[in-house]
Amino acid sequence: MKGNGYICCPNYKILRDIIHLLPDNIANQIAAGEVIQRPGSAVKELLENAVDAGADEIKLIVTDAGKSLIQVIDNGKGMSETDARMAFERHATSKISRIDDLFQIKTMGFRGEALASIAAVARVELKTRRAEDPGGTYIEIENSEVLLQEPVAHNPGTSIAMKNLFFNVPARRNFLKSNTAELKNIMDEFTRVAMAFPQIFFSMYSNGQEVFHLEKGNLKQRLVQLLGNTYQTKLVPVLQDTDYLNISGFVGKPDAAKKTRGDQFLFVNSRFIKSAYLNHAISSAYSDLLPKDSFPMYALFIDLDPAQLDINVHPTKQEIKFEDEKIVYAFVQSAVKHALAQFSITPTLDFELDPRIEQLDAIRKPFTEEKQERTSASGLYQSFTQKGQAHFIEGSSNLANWKDFYEPEQIPVEQTVSNPVFKSEQLPGYDFSEMNLMQWNKTYIVFQHQDQLTVVHQQLAHERVLYESYVEAMTKKPISSQQSLFPATLELSPSDAALLEELLPELLDLGYQLEPFGKNTFVIQGTPADVLTGNEQRSIEQMLEQYKHFTSDLKYDKKEKLMRAMAFQHAVKPGMALSQKEMKHLMEQLYACQTPGSSPNGRPTQIRFGTEEMDRMFGK
Ligand code: ADP
Ligand code: MG
Repeated sequence: MKGNGYICCPNYKILRDIIHLLPDNIANQIAAGEVIQRPGSAVKELLENAVDAGADEIKLIVTDAGKSLIQVIDNGKGMSETDARMAFERHATSKISRIDDLFQIKTMGFRGEALASIAAVARVELKTRRAEDPGGTYIEIENSEVLLQEPVAHNPGTSIAMKNLFFNVPARRNFLKSNTAELKNIMDEFTRVAMAFPQIFFSMYSNGQEVFHLEKGNLKQRLVQLLGNTYQTKLVPVLQDTDYLNISGFVGKPDAAKKTRGDQFLFVNSRFIKSAYLNHAISSAYSDLLPKDSFPMYALFIDLDPAQLDINVHPTKQEIKFEDEKIVYAFVQSAVKHALAQFSITPTLDFELDPRIEQLDAIRKPFTEEKQERTSASGLYQSFTQKGQAHFIEGSSNLANWKDFYEPEQIPVEQTVSNPVFKSEQLPGYDFSEMNLMQWNKTYIVFQHQDQLTVVHQQLAHERVLYESYVEAMTKKPISSQQSLFPATLELSPSDAALLEELLPELLDLGYQLEPFGKNTFVIQGTPADVLTGNEQRSIEQMLEQYKHFTSDLKYDKKEKLMRAMAFQHAVKPGMALSQKEMKHLMEQLYACQTPGSSPNGRPTQIRFGTEEMDRMFGK
């Protein structure tokens, strides 16, 4: 075959080659798909750029959960006219110029993709000025094309506004979630950046209302501003400096632990990351201090030589690769234990490494002399070596297995178990007035009826009873609320306040009468009769936690999640001693339910044994 691009056929039909380069705007749109997935990712990129520009005041403005406007205004170093234009090209960055720079990265960005991506999927208006320049630059871009560029008067710093996100990518626009969900995501991203830089002033406005106003301060002040006043007295400082890495930040006292993973923040070189592995290191440092199913609060910052990290991971991925993951695990765990012990929260000083870690080859093997010298200088080393063990863990040992070993156990919480045996119609109408009920282990109610032994789980049974009463309240008559004589106020973190605000009408049906009362604060006017006076705040906080626990569950709507959360929250828990009268009352209510056989989440409320099964178990 000859010819450059064309093949001449006998009938003179011309066949063209089919490969061509994509136009810039389409290539950028495709690339944007990876960097800008939703409004929150644009917020993260713009905030990080402002931080990288050295700003100490950063303001975020969103409308419509970022769908119509995301704007970040900073007082950072600004851009020259040429840089302002260049910034929107793909792979345009001021942050690295050689491959080696990758291993020294001190900035949040470095790939030069964010602005190019944003300009491909939204209409962008940039105003910027360097302090040393007499005037600033204004640029308008849409579809990766510059529409307008002109001089403008502007304060030193940069303002980038992106409007109508994904206006030209309808498939993506349609994929966006509800405003509540997207706004929550934006607030999460905002929180992570604001937490990492307490020395910077941040504010955030949503639909014209200020939702965050974070004065410059120290980390503790920032945490309290972001997560709520309740943490004021519940933070334990963590601080360990070693040659290899530094750990600083705070962990929550055990009584600040929550039912959801909500308040857990881990940063590596100021970058928010997620790591099930390091999360395990932290949680396990609490060992027995925490009740089961609860998660400690933490905001920890690990700083180490960037060369010890694989920074070149995907821009939106929050996972990170350490050169030596195990040593980081051991350091983090020990630092947290140390902190808890120093504040007399752990009963004894317990610096032993987990026996499973100690058994690893790498731990038992001695240090090389040089490493030994370097490391033994650090305070942490002392705690590791109490048992005469060196702790250097070689990179060559079996990482994969190690990781499996330490991955936290998956506990399926809302797993739906179908329970064919206990359909309601099969449950007999008991008469409990004459029966003698027994409580076993303060958890199970046991009784005999005819030839059957029934074991009822008190919490699951009570959840069923409450759940059905809530369904009734939502559909027929609302639960009456008991007015508080001295209404208490409830102060929440901004994101919890936004969530609660959303739920107010449903809560009213369920007997909670709450009124917004200024910034992130609510007045508790009334609660359902079964909430003890003095317990109102805690009861609402816990219910919100429980609600969040369900929020990832797409199959339930708001009401459904709320009812489940409340049922769980108000149900008697294992460990609660019940009187005969209480047990009988609970059983009567249970068997009056539509579906007494299973809890709202589909677990069995009870198990019954007949004589035959018993006989079989005894081999008779
Ligand atoms: P990256 O942050 O990875 O370098 P971006 O596309 O986010 O890539 O930004 C490109 C460049 O534009 C940055 O390297 C920086 O020089 C400049 N820039 C972006 N935002 C700002 C800002 N707010 N202030 C000053 N310069 C900025
Ligand atoms: Mg950037």
